[in-house]
Formats: sequence, C-alpha cells, structure tokens
Amino acid sequence: PYRGPTYEKIMKIRSKHVSPTVKPTFNKPLILSEGKMQWLWDNEGKRYLDLFAGIVTVSVGHCHSKVVEPLKQQLDYLWHTTQLYVNYPMYEYAEKLTAKMPGNLKVCFFTNSGSEANDLAMVLAREYTKAFDIISFRNCFHGSSPYTAGLTAHGSWKNAYANGFGIHHAMNPDPYQGIWGGSNCRDSLVQTDRTCSCADDQCQAEDKYLEQLQEIFDNSIGKRVAGFFAEAIQGVGGVVQYPKNFLAKAYEMVRSRGGLCIADEVQTGFGRTGTHMWGFESHGVIPDIVTMAKGIGNGFPMGAVVTTPEVVNAIADVSLLNTFAGNPMATTVANKVLDVIEEEKTQERSLEIGNYMIKELVKLRDEFEIVGDVRGKGLMLGVEMVENKETRRPLNPQSMGEIRDAIKDLGVIIGIGGLRSNTFRIKPPMCITKEDANFAVAVVRKAIGDFLRKQ
Ligand code: PMP
Repeated sequence: PYRGPTYEKIMKIRSKHVSPTVKPTFNKPLILSEGKMQWLWDNEGKRYLDLFAGIVTVSVGHCHSKVVEPLKQQLDYLWHTTQLYVNYPMYEYAEKLTAKMPGNLKVCFFTNSGSEANDLAMVLAREYTKAFDIISFRNCFHGSSPYTAGLTAHGSWKNAYANGFGIHHAMNPDPYQGIWGGSNCRDSLVQTDRTCSCADDQCQAEDKYLEQLQEIFDNSIGKRVAGFFAEAIQGVGGVVQYPKNFLAKAYEMVRSRGGLCIADEVQTGFGRTGTHMWGFESHGVIPDIVTMAKGIGNGFPMGAVVTTPEVVNAIADVSLLNTFAGNPMATTVANKVLDVIEEEKTQERSLEIGNYMIKELVKLRDEFEIVGDVRGKGLMLGVEMVENKETRRPLNPQSMGEIRDAIKDLGVIIGIGGLRSNTFRIKPPMCITKEDANFAVAVVRKAIGDFLRKQ
C-alpha cells in the first residue's frame, strides 16, 4: 500500500504549519494513507475497518471504482467552468437527483458543503416567508459557518464570535436523555423510529415538547417563524431519534403558522437509514426544503439544496454566485454515486446490515452496565455509554476516548458524538458486510470488557 512520509515528519509540519484548530482525534493522531471500500490503511500499512466513513461521508465505499473511473475521464475533459456557463454534468445531475425526491421537491441549488447548503436554506426560508425567526432543536448540528453556527445548538461546535441570530433552539425530544421524554420512558423499539411508551401510559413528553415549540412562535418577531430545521436523526448530537410522529406534528404546527419545514439530510440522506432514500420519509413528512452534503459525493466536496418551484420563485430575481458549486467533477461523482446506490442496492444493504448489527449491539447493552442505550436506523447507529443504567449519567470523556482508542488499536474506527460526548457513532460506508459487523461488535465487546477489567 501507499505509505507516505513518516509520523515524525508529518507531526513536525503539523506543529509548525497547520493551525492548532485542526484537532485530529485519537491520543496518537492516525495518519491515513489509503482507502478502499470499507477499509482504510495507515502509513505503516495497518488495515482498519472504517465505521465512521469520514463522519458519515463515504457513502458507497472509499475510492469506489465505479465512481473513480468516470471521475478520471471527467478530469481529462473539463474541471471547472463556474455557473456562468452551462456544464452539462450539473444539469444532468439536477434532473437525476430531483427524480429521487417526493412531492414537488424539484428544483436544485448546488453548494460545496453542508454549511453552505444550510446557509442557503436559511436565506430561502426568510425570503419566502418574509419572517426572520428560525427554530432548530437543541443538540442539533447544521454547520459551522458563522450563519449556521447560530443554527447549530451543540456547544462544543460553537465559538465566541458572532453567530447567526434570530434562532431559537427548541427542547430536544430525546426519548433517552430528554428533559421530559427521558427517564420515565421505557426502552423504545429497536431499529424503528423511537416511540415514547411509558410503563404507566402517563407520559406527557410529546405534548410538553410540542407546547414549548408553540411557545417559541409566540416569542418570535410578529409571532411568526421563517423556518424550522431538523435532522431526521441527529448525527453529531449522538444518533438521537425523536419520538414517533413527533416530527409530523411539529411540521403541521410550523406550517399552520406560515413557516417552512427544512430537512437537513446531510447525514441521513442517500439510503443511510435503510428503509428510505431520505431520513424524513420515515417520519411521514415532505419538507419544503431539503439540504444535503457528505454522502452525496462519497467524500468529494459537494452539497445541494432541493426545494419547490414555489419557494424558489421567491428569490428568482436574486443572483447567487458560488465559484465551485456544481462543478463538473463533483456532479460527475454525485451522478455515479446515485447509480451505485441503485446498482448495488446500497439502501437495502444499509437496512439489512444495520438491522443485523443493531441486534448484536443490543446484546452489548444487555451484557454491560455502562452501555446505556443502543439505537439508530439502517447504518446510522449509536451506542450511548453511561456510568450505570439507573442514573443514565454520561460516561466521562476520558473513558470514552480510552475505549475508542482501544477499538482503533484492535482495527476498527468508530466516532464519538452527543452533547456530552458519550455516544459511540457507527456509520460506516454502506458497503460493509455481515462479517464486518461481527468483527466490529467483537472488537467493541473486547474493548469495553478490557476497560472494565482495568477499573
Ligand atoms: N448538517 C449536518 C447534519 C451535519 O452533520 C454537518 C456536518 N457534520 C453539516 C450540516 C455541515 O456540513 P459541512 O461540514 O459539509 O459544512
């Protein structure tokens, strides 16, 4: 395999010339040199099973040959034009992508990232409604540009400079840790949209979450809201699923007050949740605006916003120029990613392997007191670690890091997320196999067991 320079040489460059705001994870930074499908190799030739996919970005597999070859061809034809001229791959992709969307979601914008896509969605919602206030959930992540950092509620990812304003963070309807929906609620069904089913049927969590959502409208300028952003499953927030039917009721409320509903599919799109192409579909809703990035390009930088002709007409007079957006390289890649998803039944695989894996992970929850909750859908899975099942108090970040590093040393890469950084995130390239799932669960089991024996 390709190795590249030594660890020492790279770390020397890092200490002098790379901004310290770039913070590689793992106690000893991992230098990755090569990737193929679900596998990664470091600079010493050691192989890892990749269960984090560069933060849920490599959708169909690292350097998938059916994507690489058309990109190589495109590289010989044309790299760049800008949207001042017509490049056919972008138009071809716009037609193909919108064919995958339900309802009247038929018009595309292209961007280079998820933050740019959400920036644009905020502009669209405000222009269309002529209202200003926007709602998103606590614990959400929608981007890191100054505008979208305001939309993001997750404190770890916000900094002390001016963030987008006019944004309200609604209480997060989290059935496991949520302020109203947590401790009284029985475990939800595995691998389905979570239900909040209290043992005594007295749970009022959903009503409470909806009431305070309503209250936000009453506290907004003119008692109106431009838009409501929600991920179908919170990603960076630690694979948090809302109670079943909650999103549909929230959409109804937002629309009754004239606001637009925006689905952030940056992590949950492109078959990731298994049952559907788009995460919002399993909530039984059709948004007014959908934002995408990450998996759209299997790792190639790209984002998109899809909306209805009605919404886009609100800004038809506006010119939005973004130099690289929709460039022929990115749109050629995205085009082939959609083909692969169809040809290789990626969504179906996500459901099948995800279903299998969650059942295996649930066994860990039953074996270990510190595995509090196992949840997710398709290949978007989370394992929430706690001090014990009774208090559900989060396992501390140092222990989380220790377990994650041990898992890495055993040959598996997983992520960490959640408001209190206590949820392992398993979101691999969707080409993984049942054997990979078995290997991964065995590694996680061993790492947790070793950690507990050391205590
Ligand atoms: N939305 C969601 C749900 C995300 O997870 C992210 C990135 N983690 C973004 C938006 C921002 O995407 P990007 O990093 O491409 O700007």
